[in-house]
Amino acid sequence: MDTATQNSAGQDMDGEGGPAPAPVAAGRPAALSPSRAADFMRCPLLYRFRVIDRLPEKPSAAATRGTVVHAVLERLFDAPAAERTPAAATGLLPGEWEKLLAARPELAELFLREDGSHDAESLARWLEEAARLVERWFTLEDPMRLEPAERELYVETVIEGAGESGLTLRGIVDRVDVAPTGDVRIVDYKTGKAPAPQFRADALFQMKFYALVVWRLRGRVPRRLQLVYLGSGDVVTYDPAEAELLAVERKLRALWEAIALATETGDWRPRPTKLCGWCDHQAVCPEFGGTPPPYPLPLPAPRAAEADGPAAPATEVQGRMDAV
Ligand code: SF4
Repeated sequence: MDTATQNSAGQDMDGEGGPAPAPVAAGRPAALSPSRAADFMRCPLLYRFRVIDRLPEKPSAAATRGTVVHAVLERLFDAPAAERTPAAATGLLPGEWEKLLAARPELAELFLREDGSHDAESLARWLEEAARLVERWFTLEDPMRLEPAERELYVETVIEGAGESGLTLRGIVDRVDVAPTGDVRIVDYKTGKAPAPQFRADALFQMKFYALVVWRLRGRVPRRLQLVYLGSGDVVTYDPAEAELLAVERKLRALWEAIALATETGDWRPRPTKLCGWCDHQAVCPEFGGTPPPYPLPLPAPRAAEADGPAAPATEVQGRMDAV
Protein backbone atom coordinates (compact mmCIF):
# COMPACT_ATOMS: atom_id res chain seq x y z
CA MET A 1 0.00 0.00 0.00
CA ASP A 2 1.10 3.60 -0.43
CA THR A 3 1.32 3.94 3.32
CA ALA A 4 3.24 0.75 3.40
CA THR A 5 3.39 0.21 7.12
CA GLN A 6 0.00 1.47 8.12
CA ASN A 7 -3.07 -0.62 8.66
CA SER A 8 -6.51 0.34 7.41
CA ALA A 9 -6.95 2.62 10.41
CA GLY A 10 -3.90 4.53 9.24
CA GLN A 11 -1.99 3.42 12.32
CA ASP A 12 1.72 2.90 12.06
CA MET A 13 2.42 -0.81 12.29
CA ASP A 14 6.15 -1.03 11.85
CA GLY A 15 7.19 0.48 15.14
CA GLU A 16 9.59 2.80 13.33
CA GLY A 17 7.64 6.00 13.76
CA GLY A 18 6.65 7.16 10.29
CA PRO A 19 4.49 10.21 9.71
CA ALA A 20 3.17 10.43 13.25
CA PRO A 21 -0.01 12.33 14.12
CA ALA A 22 1.48 13.59 17.38
CA PRO A 23 4.94 13.80 18.94
CA VAL A 24 6.11 10.53 20.46
CA ALA A 25 9.29 9.53 22.24
CA ALA A 26 12.45 9.34 20.17
CA GLY A 27 13.88 5.91 19.54
CA ARG A 28 16.42 3.76 17.78
CA PRO A 29 15.60 2.12 14.45
CA ALA A 30 14.24 -1.34 15.24
CA ALA A 31 13.32 -2.65 11.80
CA LEU A 32 13.13 -1.73 8.16
CA SER A 33 10.00 -1.34 6.10
CA PRO A 34 9.90 -0.46 2.39
CA SER A 35 8.78 3.09 3.09
CA ARG A 36 11.50 3.77 5.66
CA ALA A 37 14.14 2.18 3.45
CA ALA A 38 12.99 4.50 0.68
CA ASP A 39 13.18 7.46 3.09
CA PHE A 40 16.81 6.71 3.91
CA MET A 41 17.77 6.31 0.27
CA ARG A 42 15.99 9.56 -0.59
CA CYS A 43 17.40 11.62 2.29
CA PRO A 44 19.11 10.29 5.45
CA LEU A 45 18.07 13.39 7.42
CA LEU A 46 14.42 12.79 6.51
CA TYR A 47 14.82 9.24 7.85
CA ARG A 48 16.23 10.64 11.10
CA PHE A 49 13.33 13.08 11.49
CA ARG A 50 10.78 10.35 10.92
CA VAL A 51 12.33 7.36 12.71
CA ILE A 52 14.58 8.78 15.43
CA ASP A 53 13.10 12.19 16.28
CA ARG A 54 9.61 11.05 15.24
CA LEU A 55 8.60 14.57 14.36
CA PRO A 56 4.90 14.99 13.64
CA GLU A 57 3.74 15.55 10.06
CA LYS A 58 0.65 17.27 8.76
CA PRO A 59 -2.16 14.97 7.64
CA SER A 60 -2.44 14.81 3.88
CA ALA A 61 -5.78 14.60 2.07
CA ALA A 62 -4.25 12.41 -0.65
CA ALA A 63 -2.59 9.96 1.77
CA THR A 64 -5.75 9.79 3.89
CA ARG A 65 -7.83 9.09 0.78
CA GLY A 66 -5.38 6.31 -0.05
CA THR A 67 -5.89 4.76 3.38
CA VAL A 68 -9.67 4.84 3.01
CA VAL A 69 -9.59 3.41 -0.52
CA HIS A 70 -7.29 0.60 0.63
CA ALA A 71 -9.68 -0.20 3.47
CA VAL A 72 -12.61 -0.40 1.03
CA LEU A 73 -10.74 -2.71 -1.35
CA GLU A 74 -9.94 -4.95 1.58
CA ARG A 75 -13.42 -4.95 3.14
CA LEU A 76 -15.18 -5.65 -0.15
CA PHE A 77 -13.87 -9.22 -0.08
CA ASP A 78 -15.88 -9.85 3.10
CA ALA A 79 -18.96 -9.97 0.83
CA PRO A 80 -19.87 -13.00 -1.29
CA ALA A 81 -18.36 -12.81 -4.78
CA ALA A 82 -21.64 -11.96 -6.52
CA GLU A 83 -22.12 -8.91 -4.28
CA ARG A 84 -18.74 -7.32 -4.99
CA THR A 85 -20.10 -4.61 -7.24
CA PRO A 86 -18.89 -1.04 -7.81
CA ALA A 87 -21.96 0.26 -5.97
CA ALA A 88 -21.25 -1.99 -2.99
CA ALA A 89 -17.64 -0.86 -2.92
CA THR A 90 -18.31 2.87 -3.13
CA GLY A 91 -21.06 2.40 -0.55
CA LEU A 92 -18.36 1.36 1.92
CA LEU A 93 -16.47 4.65 1.60
CA PRO A 94 -18.36 6.85 4.09
CA GLY A 95 -18.24 4.16 6.77
CA GLU A 96 -14.53 3.51 6.30
CA TRP A 97 -13.88 7.25 6.47
CA GLU A 98 -15.86 7.48 9.73
CA LYS A 99 -13.92 4.55 11.19
CA LEU A 100 -10.61 6.17 10.27
CA LEU A 101 -11.73 9.50 11.71
CA ALA A 102 -12.73 7.82 14.98
CA ALA A 103 -9.25 6.27 15.21
CA ARG A 104 -7.48 9.50 14.20
CA PRO A 105 -9.63 12.51 15.16
CA GLU A 106 -6.93 14.94 14.03
CA LEU A 107 -7.87 14.12 10.42
CA ALA A 108 -10.94 16.32 10.86
CA GLU A 109 -8.64 19.28 10.18
CA LEU A 110 -8.48 18.23 6.53
CA PHE A 111 -12.05 19.46 6.09
CA LEU A 112 -12.20 22.76 7.94
CA ARG A 113 -13.01 26.20 6.57
CA GLU A 114 -10.80 29.15 7.46
CA ASP A 115 -13.16 30.02 10.31
CA GLY A 116 -12.71 26.52 11.74
CA SER A 117 -16.15 25.21 10.82
CA HIS A 118 -16.64 21.85 9.13
CA ASP A 119 -16.46 22.03 5.33
CA ALA A 120 -19.04 19.46 4.21
CA GLU A 121 -18.64 20.34 0.50
CA SER A 122 -14.91 19.73 0.62
CA LEU A 123 -15.47 16.37 2.33
CA ALA A 124 -18.08 15.42 -0.29
CA ARG A 125 -15.69 16.26 -3.14
CA TRP A 126 -12.95 14.22 -1.47
CA LEU A 127 -15.26 11.23 -1.11
CA GLU A 128 -16.27 11.58 -4.78
CA GLU A 129 -12.62 11.46 -5.80
CA ALA A 130 -12.17 8.35 -3.65
CA ALA A 131 -15.23 6.81 -5.35
CA ARG A 132 -13.69 7.43 -8.79
CA LEU A 133 -10.54 5.56 -7.70
CA VAL A 134 -12.60 2.64 -6.37
CA GLU A 135 -14.68 2.50 -9.57
CA ARG A 136 -11.55 2.53 -11.70
CA TRP A 137 -10.32 -0.56 -9.90
CA PHE A 138 -13.22 -2.50 -11.45
CA THR A 139 -11.84 -1.69 -14.91
CA LEU A 140 -8.51 -3.29 -13.91
CA GLU A 141 -9.52 -6.30 -11.83
CA ASP A 142 -12.72 -8.26 -11.28
CA PRO A 143 -13.22 -8.93 -7.56
CA MET A 144 -16.03 -11.37 -8.38
CA ARG A 145 -13.37 -13.68 -9.85
CA LEU A 146 -10.81 -13.21 -7.09
CA GLU A 147 -10.53 -14.98 -3.75
CA PRO A 148 -7.47 -13.49 -2.05
CA ALA A 149 -5.50 -15.78 0.23
CA GLU A 150 -4.58 -12.78 2.36
CA ARG A 151 -5.55 -9.14 2.64
CA GLU A 152 -3.55 -6.43 4.41
CA LEU A 153 -1.13 -9.12 5.49
CA TYR A 154 1.42 -8.07 8.09
CA VAL A 155 4.73 -9.74 7.24
CA GLU A 156 7.95 -9.80 9.21
CA THR A 157 11.17 -11.76 8.97
CA VAL A 158 14.68 -11.48 10.35
CA ILE A 159 17.71 -11.51 8.08
CA GLU A 160 20.41 -13.15 10.15
CA GLY A 161 23.96 -11.87 10.23
CA ALA A 162 23.03 -8.23 9.64
CA GLY A 163 24.14 -6.42 12.79
CA GLU A 164 24.11 -7.87 16.30
CA SER A 165 20.48 -8.98 16.35
CA GLY A 166 19.88 -9.35 12.64
CA LEU A 167 17.81 -7.13 10.40
CA THR A 168 14.05 -7.23 10.88
CA LEU A 169 12.13 -6.58 7.67
CA ARG A 170 8.46 -5.84 7.99
CA GLY A 171 5.54 -4.36 6.15
CA ILE A 172 1.93 -4.82 5.12
CA VAL A 173 1.08 -6.50 1.83
CA ASP A 174 -2.21 -5.32 0.34
CA ARG A 175 -3.21 -8.65 -1.15
CA VAL A 176 -1.77 -12.11 -1.66
CA ASP A 177 -3.32 -14.40 -4.28
CA VAL A 178 -2.38 -18.08 -4.38
CA ALA A 179 -3.09 -20.13 -7.53
CA PRO A 180 -4.11 -23.81 -7.35
CA THR A 181 -0.51 -24.57 -8.44
CA GLY A 182 0.76 -22.83 -5.31
CA ASP A 183 2.11 -19.87 -7.27
CA VAL A 184 1.96 -16.67 -5.21
CA ARG A 185 1.05 -13.24 -6.56
CA ILE A 186 1.68 -10.17 -4.43
CA VAL A 187 -0.62 -7.25 -5.24
CA ASP A 188 -0.18 -3.64 -4.19
CA TYR A 189 -2.72 -0.87 -4.79
CA LYS A 190 -1.45 2.61 -5.58
CA THR A 191 -3.89 5.50 -5.55
CA GLY A 192 -1.55 7.66 -7.62
CA LYS A 193 -0.67 7.46 -11.30
CA ALA A 194 1.76 4.95 -12.75
CA PRO A 195 5.20 6.52 -13.24
CA ALA A 196 6.89 6.33 -16.63
CA PRO A 197 8.82 3.06 -17.05
CA GLN A 198 12.17 4.72 -16.33
CA PHE A 199 10.86 5.91 -12.94
CA ARG A 200 9.39 2.62 -11.73
CA ALA A 201 12.43 1.48 -9.77
CA ASP A 202 11.16 2.78 -6.41
CA ALA A 203 7.81 1.00 -6.67
CA LEU A 204 9.46 -2.20 -7.86
CA PHE A 205 11.96 -2.02 -5.01
CA GLN A 206 9.06 -2.00 -2.56
CA MET A 207 7.52 -5.01 -4.28
CA LYS A 208 10.82 -6.91 -4.33
CA PHE A 209 11.18 -6.13 -0.62
CA TYR A 210 7.82 -7.80 0.00
CA ALA A 211 8.75 -10.66 -2.31
CA LEU A 212 11.93 -11.26 -0.33
CA VAL A 213 10.03 -11.32 2.97
CA VAL A 214 7.32 -13.64 1.61
CA TRP A 215 10.00 -15.90 0.11
CA ARG A 216 11.75 -16.12 3.48
CA LEU A 217 8.47 -16.84 5.27
CA ARG A 218 6.99 -19.35 2.82
CA GLY A 219 10.09 -20.84 1.21
CA ARG A 220 8.87 -20.08 -2.30
CA VAL A 221 9.72 -17.11 -4.52
CA PRO A 222 6.50 -15.27 -5.44
CA ARG A 223 5.67 -15.88 -9.07
CA ARG A 224 4.40 -12.39 -9.80
CA LEU A 225 4.43 -8.87 -8.34
CA GLN A 226 1.52 -6.70 -9.42
CA LEU A 227 1.09 -2.97 -8.97
CA VAL A 228 -2.42 -1.65 -9.54
CA TYR A 229 -2.42 2.10 -10.19
CA LEU A 230 -5.90 3.42 -9.52
CA GLY A 231 -4.97 7.01 -10.38
CA SER A 232 -4.16 6.26 -14.00
CA GLY A 233 -5.78 2.87 -14.54
CA ASP A 234 -2.56 0.94 -15.13
CA VAL A 235 -1.43 -2.49 -14.00
CA VAL A 236 2.31 -3.14 -13.85
CA THR A 237 3.51 -6.70 -13.35
CA TYR A 238 6.95 -8.09 -12.67
CA ASP A 239 8.11 -11.68 -12.26
CA PRO A 240 11.07 -11.72 -9.86
CA ALA A 241 13.98 -14.13 -10.08
CA GLU A 242 15.66 -15.59 -7.02
CA ALA A 243 18.95 -13.88 -7.89
CA GLU A 244 17.24 -10.48 -7.92
CA LEU A 245 15.79 -11.03 -4.46
CA LEU A 246 19.21 -12.02 -3.18
CA ALA A 247 20.52 -8.74 -4.60
CA VAL A 248 17.74 -6.87 -2.78
CA GLU A 249 18.75 -8.64 0.42
CA ARG A 250 22.37 -7.53 -0.05
CA LYS A 251 21.20 -3.98 -0.67
CA LEU A 252 19.07 -4.00 2.48
CA ARG A 253 21.99 -5.31 4.55
CA ALA A 254 24.17 -2.45 3.26
CA LEU A 255 21.37 0.02 3.94
CA TRP A 256 20.97 -1.25 7.49
CA GLU A 257 24.72 -0.95 8.09
CA ALA A 258 24.63 2.65 6.87
CA ILE A 259 21.62 3.38 9.13
CA ALA A 260 23.38 1.77 12.11
CA LEU A 261 26.47 3.88 11.54
CA ALA A 262 24.48 7.09 11.21
CA THR A 263 22.49 6.20 14.35
CA GLU A 264 25.66 5.62 16.30
CA THR A 265 27.46 8.74 15.11
CA GLY A 266 24.55 11.15 14.69
CA ASP A 267 25.70 11.92 11.15
CA TRP A 268 22.48 12.26 9.18
CA ARG A 269 23.06 14.14 5.93
CA PRO A 270 20.37 16.11 4.14
CA ARG A 271 20.08 15.13 0.51
CA PRO A 272 18.05 17.82 -1.26
CA THR A 273 16.03 16.87 -4.30
CA LYS A 274 12.89 18.13 -6.02
CA LEU A 275 10.94 16.09 -3.46
CA CYS A 276 11.94 18.57 -0.72
CA GLY A 277 8.88 20.53 -1.82
CA TRP A 278 6.75 17.83 -0.18
CA CYS A 279 8.89 17.51 2.96
CA ASP A 280 7.24 18.63 6.22
CA HIS A 281 10.59 19.32 7.85
CA GLN A 282 12.08 22.21 5.89
CA ALA A 283 11.91 24.44 9.00
CA VAL A 284 14.45 22.21 10.78
CA CYS A 285 16.50 21.27 7.71
CA PRO A 286 19.91 22.94 7.21
CA GLU A 287 19.32 22.97 3.45
CA PHE A 288 16.51 25.48 4.10
CA GLY A 289 18.23 27.50 6.82
CA GLY A 290 16.82 25.45 9.71
CA THR A 291 18.50 23.70 12.62
CA PRO A 292 17.63 20.09 13.51
CA PRO A 293 16.51 19.47 17.08
CA PRO A 294 19.23 18.22 19.47
CA TYR A 295 20.11 14.64 18.66
CA PRO A 296 18.02 12.55 21.08
CA LEU A 297 20.27 9.48 21.24
CA PRO A 298 23.56 9.12 23.12
CA LEU A 299 26.68 9.71 21.08
CA PRO A 300 30.06 8.05 21.64
CA ALA A 301 31.74 9.73 24.64
CA PRO A 302 34.70 11.32 22.81
CA ARG A 303 32.33 12.99 20.40
CA ALA A 304 29.54 13.93 22.82
CA ALA A 305 30.55 17.58 22.59
CA GLU A 306 29.91 17.51 18.86
CA ALA A 307 26.21 16.72 19.21
CA ASP A 308 25.21 19.76 17.16
CA GLY A 309 27.15 18.69 14.10
CA PRO A 310 28.27 15.64 12.17
CA ALA A 311 30.38 13.55 14.52
CA ALA A 312 31.41 10.73 12.23
CA PRO A 313 34.24 10.70 9.76
CA ALA A 314 32.34 12.10 6.84
CA THR A 315 33.86 9.75 4.36
CA GLU A 316 32.79 6.65 6.29
CA VAL A 317 29.07 7.41 6.35
CA GLN A 318 29.16 8.76 2.81
CA GLY A 319 31.05 5.66 1.69
CA ARG A 320 28.37 3.38 3.07
CA MET A 321 25.67 5.49 1.47
CA ASP A 322 27.43 5.29 -1.87
CA ALA A 323 27.58 1.52 -1.51
CA VAL A 324 23.81 1.24 -1.05
S1 SF4 B 1 13.80 19.30 3.15
FE1 SF4 B 1 14.81 17.87 1.70
S2 SF4 B 1 16.94 17.74 2.41
FE2 SF4 B 1 15.72 18.59 4.12
S3 SF4 B 1 15.11 16.83 5.36
FE3 SF4 B 1 13.45 17.20 3.92
S4 SF4 B 1 13.91 15.85 2.17
FE4 SF4 B 1 15.80 16.03 3.36
